[in-house]
Amino acid sequence: MNDSNAAVRELDAVVVGAGFSGMYMLHKLRGLGLKVRVIEAGENVGGTWYWNRYPGARCDVMSMEYCYSFDPQLEQEWEWTERYPSQPEILRYLDHVADRLDLRRDITFRTRVTSAHYDEGANRWTVTTDAGETFSARFCVMATGCLSTTRKPPFEGVDAFRGRTFHTGEWPHEPVDFTGRRVGVIGTGSSGIQVVPVVAQQAAKLHVFQRTPNFSIPAHNGPLDPDFVKQFKSRYPAHRAEARVSLFGVPWAIDMNSALGVPPEERQRKYEAAWAQGGATPMLVAYVDLLANEQANETAAEFVRQKIREIVKDPKTAELLTPRDHPLGTKRICVDTDYYATFNRPNVELVDVRSAPIVRFTATGLETAAAAYELDDVIFATGYDAMTGTLLRIDVRGRGGVSLRDKWADGPKTYLGLSVAGFPNLFTITGPGSPSVLSNVVVSIEQHVEWTADCIAWLRQEGYATIEATPEAEEKWVAHVNEVADTTLFPKANSWYTGANIPGKPRVFMPYVGGVGPYREICDGVAKKGYEGFRVGA
Ligand code: NAP
Repeated sequence: MNDSNAAVRELDAVVVGAGFSGMYMLHKLRGLGLKVRVIEAGENVGGTWYWNRYPGARCDVMSMEYCYSFDPQLEQEWEWTERYPSQPEILRYLDHVADRLDLRRDITFRTRVTSAHYDEGANRWTVTTDAGETFSARFCVMATGCLSTTRKPPFEGVDAFRGRTFHTGEWPHEPVDFTGRRVGVIGTGSSGIQVVPVVAQQAAKLHVFQRTPNFSIPAHNGPLDPDFVKQFKSRYPAHRAEARVSLFGVPWAIDMNSALGVPPEERQRKYEAAWAQGGATPMLVAYVDLLANEQANETAAEFVRQKIREIVKDPKTAELLTPRDHPLGTKRICVDTDYYATFNRPNVELVDVRSAPIVRFTATGLETAAAAYELDDVIFATGYDAMTGTLLRIDVRGRGGVSLRDKWADGPKTYLGLSVAGFPNLFTITGPGSPSVLSNVVVSIEQHVEWTADCIAWLRQEGYATIEATPEAEEKWVAHVNEVADTTLFPKANSWYTGANIPGKPRVFMPYVGGVGPYREICDGVAKKGYEGFRVGA
């Protein structure tokens, strides 16, 4: 579709993606007086929250914390209605922000970036789209999100299936009715665990095809208490300040005791309180060594396993739902509403596709190695090519025409998760090697966007045209990311954090596990030292 005659549009910066990251990046760069264009595949703003419209879609970070902090008036004015925000409510919020900041006039919707090539002679990025447009810009900011490229396993015969198929991450805009239908859900990660209880209420029969059970903790979602909101808003600046220096981007203090250093009854009480409070964070911060010591972790994991046994009435189903293959928290802990209890419903059946995998689809359903299932609808809750998938879908080329795909053939390499050696003036918001998915991502996004904008302002002030990570700084950072990950239990899980969910993807622990606060300090220190580890060009 590339039209070589089309005019090249000259810009200061191209931003790819109009989710939380791209929207704020546009606002900040405009504030610097830059001419910016955002390119977005969706028809509207929202990023992951634009695409993930499946029934039950909800964030696992609390509403009051899962929103921008850069605009004190916005955070005071906006009224969240529930403890955990639903997808429609987050989208309404982002729509409101786009209106408030008048963002849409600089966003091109329904358009995908296909390539971004660095022109060494001109010191500019040439960015092309599937609509045949070409942009030339000094800076290119990848605000592509960590979970944007969906993954559907290539099951034999899937195209022959005559029923309806859906992927949670590409859900239709119109409501989908499952009333009276025989539905199959494949996958039991966060998406599957959210969609299952809602679809179970409509479907005549629901089969949940599970390969690996996950830990899930109840959200205890509900309407927000106006007094709580008032109180929270009166302390917003303090909450935000705490979140910025915290480990996970939420203002929760970690208990510095070892889980093994307290009497079992005391530990039990603490875990009960965390379970009653709901969400993953209270459990994760209960003791300092839960993510570092297997024995300590086992005390919390066993607590959740016991809860599963208490909730699920059929012991065989309860056992199948019980995770034993990874320490608690080393895969993203799911946060649910009635997930385990849903398996007590007479119309819901758990199918173990670990012992008898899905072999093929047929015109009327699917077959596992053990049985055939007649289905009207199949929901793929099979996840994403996370963290690198979307970046590598774009043909990104840096100095000497080197492609990012080649450079990252053995796994992603970045400096601070923000910059790639050999790719000047390219910034990756929440890129691999930064806390991103291990945090309240809005906090991490704001930090990256602000750091990037400050860096661009500094370049201008100092009269530099380019900035890029040095190969040495990048190498050291990659080694540091690995070293820190190896002090934790995270690498023990076959998770999408390590690329293990995609056959053939290099196994590298991609996020930075050192914590949001310490990571921010490192990034600020780099800037203070004149962008240590970067090379600038006139
Ligand atoms: P996911 O965690 O990668 O889960 C994918 C599921 O599909 C897994 O259960 C996986 O089983 C299964 N699967 C994949 N291939 C299969 C096959 N060939 N046969 C059978 N099962 C197969 O993906 P997700 O649930 O979409 O979640 C991804 C991330 O998005 C989450 O971890 C979270 O960070 C984010 N998310 C957040 C929320 C929230 O805020 N509440 C909601 C949804 C998503 P295996 O484990 O055996 O591979």
